[in-house]
Amino acid sequence: MIDFENNIEKLYSMMDKCSICPRKCAADRNSGQKGLCNTADKIFIASSNIHRGEEPPVSADNGSGAIFFSNCVLNCVFCQNYPISQLGNGKEVSVEGLVGIMLNLQSRAVHNINFVTPTHYSAQIVKSVHAARKKGLKLPILYNCSGYENIETLKLLEGTVDIYLPDVKYSDDETAFKYSGVKNYVEINQIALKEMKRQVGDLTVTADGAAQKGVIVRHLVLPGNIENTKKALEFIAKELSESTFVSLMSQYHTAHKSNNFKELSRSLTKEEYEEAVNYLELLNLENGWVQNL
Ligand code: SF4
Repeated sequence: MIDFENNIEKLYSMMDKCSICPRKCAADRNSGQKGLCNTADKIFIASSNIHRGEEPPVSADNGSGAIFFSNCVLNCVFCQNYPISQLGNGKEVSVEGLVGIMLNLQSRAVHNINFVTPTHYSAQIVKSVHAARKKGLKLPILYNCSGYENIETLKLLEGTVDIYLPDVKYSDDETAFKYSGVKNYVEINQIALKEMKRQVGDLTVTADGAAQKGVIVRHLVLPGNIENTKKALEFIAKELSESTFVSLMSQYHTAHKSNNFKELSRSLTKEEYEEAVNYLELLNLENGWVQNL
């Protein structure tokens, strides 16, 4: 039996000297101090709406109820949402306001509540979800994150999150630091994904094809970094399982500071993406989705 009130209390206390994410920058967020993620105790969201462009079981027939949070624990040089994630565009909402947004999305018949870039708001999210469930929220909760997660925080999300949609961005720490500015990405990411899999298992869907529970792993193929992709896929196949649902994404385009890096200042080529898809098949990762270039 999970004690959600206790989990909420523990998560909020982690924000006294913040260790909500693996950066553990120790900001006193509960007193209004912002940490490395540019976030204190207040919730800021950039938008909430029906999203039809996610993976097929996430959007399904009626769309996903996406709530985009402002700021991020990573600083990816190629971030395609950088006005939200890096510049912090958004407006403040209260916990009660977030509850209202979830219930409004539910009334519009979406298949899930999709928290996009949620990590730094884990405490507020768990509190809001449980308040919303008391008011009739029935939808699965989807945690759409970078995969750079503190294991202690993740453990406190058990029973709140139904579907994890994490990235495996990198398979070597040097690349992770160069492009996203964080240390030890690989080990932290791999421990986090194993914990997610332990909590919710492989993806299961409803009779009408909507995601119900489980993990979907995303990997964005970066130009000039095919070895990074291959090792990331090897981790998924060998250490999570071949049955893992993988979304292999080709949608890279230059954005934010990507032009500061020669290899990132161009589009992904057809040959690079085909090489990634072929490797996915070689590893018997047959569940999931590839994209058109
Ligand atoms: S969530 Fe933000 S404030 Fe907390 S440790 Fe991470 S970067 Fe620092």
